[in-house]
Amino acid sequence: MKSIPYPTHSLGYPRIGDQRQLKRAVEAFWSGQIAEAELRERAAALRREHWLKQQRAGIDLIPSNDFSFYDQMLDMTALVGAVPERFGWSSEQVDLATYFRIARGNRDAAECCGNGHALEMTKWFDTNYHYLVPELHRGQSFRLGSTKPFDEFAEALALDIKTKPVLIGPVTYLLLSKTRDEEAFDPLALLGGLLPIYAEVLQRLVALGAEWVQLDEPVLALDLTDAQRAALLGAYRTLSEAVPGLRLLVATYFGDLRQNLSTLLALPVAGVHFDVTRAEAELDTLLAAFPGDKVLSLGFVDGRNIWKNDFAHSFELLVKAKSRLGPERLWLAPSCSLLHVPVTLRSESKLDPELRGWLAFADEKLAEVVTLARVLRDEPEPLVLSANRQACDARRASGRIHNRLVSERLAQVSAHDTQRKLPFAERSKIQRSRLSLPLFPTTTIGSFPQTDDVRSARARWKKGELADAEYESFLESKTAEVIASQEKIGLDVLVHGEFERNDMVEYFGEQLDGFAFTENGWVQSYGSRCVKPPIIFGDVSRPQPMTVRWSSYAQSLTTRPMKGMLTGPVTMLQWSFVRDDQPRSVTTRQIALALRDEVLDLEGAGIGMIQIDEPALREGLPLRRQDWKEYLKWAVEAFRLCAGGVRDETQIHTHMCYCEFNDIIDSIAALDADVISIETSRSNMELLTAFEEFSYPAEVGPGVWDIHSPRVPSADEMAALLRRACAVLPAEHVWANPDCGLKTRGWQEVLPALEHMVEAARRLRREHQS
Ligand code: GLN
Ligand code: ZN
Repeated sequence: MKSIPYPTHSLGYPRIGDQRQLKRAVEAFWSGQIAEAELRERAAALRREHWLKQQRAGIDLIPSNDFSFYDQMLDMTALVGAVPERFGWSSEQVDLATYFRIARGNRDAAECCGNGHALEMTKWFDTNYHYLVPELHRGQSFRLGSTKPFDEFAEALALDIKTKPVLIGPVTYLLLSKTRDEEAFDPLALLGGLLPIYAEVLQRLVALGAEWVQLDEPVLALDLTDAQRAALLGAYRTLSEAVPGLRLLVATYFGDLRQNLSTLLALPVAGVHFDVTRAEAELDTLLAAFPGDKVLSLGFVDGRNIWKNDFAHSFELLVKAKSRLGPERLWLAPSCSLLHVPVTLRSESKLDPELRGWLAFADEKLAEVVTLARVLRDEPEPLVLSANRQACDARRASGRIHNRLVSERLAQVSAHDTQRKLPFAERSKIQRSRLSLPLFPTTTIGSFPQTDDVRSARARWKKGELADAEYESFLESKTAEVIASQEKIGLDVLVHGEFERNDMVEYFGEQLDGFAFTENGWVQSYGSRCVKPPIIFGDVSRPQPMTVRWSSYAQSLTTRPMKGMLTGPVTMLQWSFVRDDQPRSVTTRQIALALRDEVLDLEGAGIGMIQIDEPALREGLPLRRQDWKEYLKWAVEAFRLCAGGVRDETQIHTHMCYCEFNDIIDSIAALDADVISIETSRSNMELLTAFEEFSYPAEVGPGVWDIHSPRVPSADEMAALLRRACAVLPAEHVWANPDCGLKTRGWQEVLPALEHMVEAARRLRREHQS
């Protein structure tokens, strides 16, 4: 890159394609419709398009190796040859078949827990992207297992684009790994063995002509120990000595640096990237202490949200950076990889023009970065700047955002509103006599199989091919069928099946004011799976009841109790793009108030049990421990605001999946739900250890059937799990239910599994009554 003042770069571009081309190609390959060569061609076409697009946008240093067939952490695992033994990898390189086996498990063997089960998947920091967790062991050896970064660098070079290859840094790679060894060990013990592979990769990139390589170390936004900080310093000392001719850019994002700031500044590298959107308060300190020999890349344009950058605000900060660093050492970029936002607003033809004017997706964000740089270079951009100012002002003043009724109502919320009248011990007696449930009541989590007929009816209705009345009566017949099945199986507490819902957040968002939806705003969630998060743009309120119609219809068909089913406020927040003009806690409280009305309407319609799902409660935890308390306080309060208005005889349920909540069990108890259903079967009830030390006050439904696997557990197995639960919980507090909703399962599994579950509960009743 030749001395451009205030150079621009990008940390990574969305790889799925503006029409999810990569998803289609990969899935076509998996199902055997296309061959590997065709998949590779389509992927190369996408990479080419993305490079050229960034070049046309005016980005000076364009990334490579940000492409992935599945996941960038998995790519690193292949690159350093850390493939677990069970995948039988022995060839020189990790071929595509092995690569997908590691990602998805050995599809030929038993899907779960067989020999070739996939690497575990977990959330990438506080995003909704999931990566494959490297699985390492004591004495793990590494070897170069892929040429992907070299191939992609060469591919771009052939287009005359000298890219900046992007790799996940060695310390982040190791700290995000897990071990299957009996005894835990410090993954950083493997650093010495890993660095030579990194050095080899970097040397080969230099040999191909690379000038800059970006190493992502987002662990700098986490709480680190002194030893971990020392490992970072040591690692980069080794790497910079190994490749003296190469310039390394270490990127941190997703949070502020706190005690890690001086470590970042001390790294012996040519440049660092800093996420201003998440760490604005640290910018002055960073600039003051910034060493004179390094490049500082600043991320003003938010790579995690969809709002237009407020240029006026960015320039206030940029002026300081400019005078401190000058044109060669100040670089501009989005705050993090653009993987976490949709590709382009150009794919949105139906968005309301006012709202559209406030938004920027990946392509528009790159244009923003370029504009910021042009202004720093004193290139005239008057029109763009005034348009930006107008858009930001218009958004701030818009009547679409601010709803006086919502803010007045919010101001009146008091502690009283979040408090049930009687404590659990007393209200549970009233609930018991009203609901007359047996010991070990059986129930499900809400959804039943979304079979092809359900999906296609919804699709036809959305396209206008099916009239409202026809769609409604179709849904009624599905609901009636599922109620009859549940009665036949012998479940105690029924659900209506959620056939009218596409997605647990979208369904509610579509009915609430303050939410908007895109046509093509897809974001990769994991592998080929993409989600289209709603946009919360304004004050949230509920124009009319959302679920009462379905719950009351369902209740009218049975004498057994029907559980109403809602998505909780924290989950709605977590799985959406949210406003950046007010704290997340305020947005959550607005959603909570809207849901509170729904809860009360359900109660008024005679629904005696209401479940408020909060599967995202734990994933909302901030990256730093120190910040947990504040988050948990408002998250718990929001839940209580939803539920706190009901009468004592109304039973409030909640549900959480994937929730290792041992460390937040007191907050879970503070939700003050009467019943909580949780995932436990996969871990063989390990998650129940939380209840050993903490005496949980209310009732618990530990999932006895892992619905993520097609395997149907026997009544024996489920009874054994219930017995284990009884060892740590009072038997009269234990419910029997699956781990999660059943919408992704088929009826051929659902029927026998639920029959076995009812049988298991009956056995336990007999054991406890005799
Ligand atoms: N009620 C929802 C369902 O059954 C809960 C889904 C979830 O926890 N993710 O589908
Ligand atoms: Zn769940």
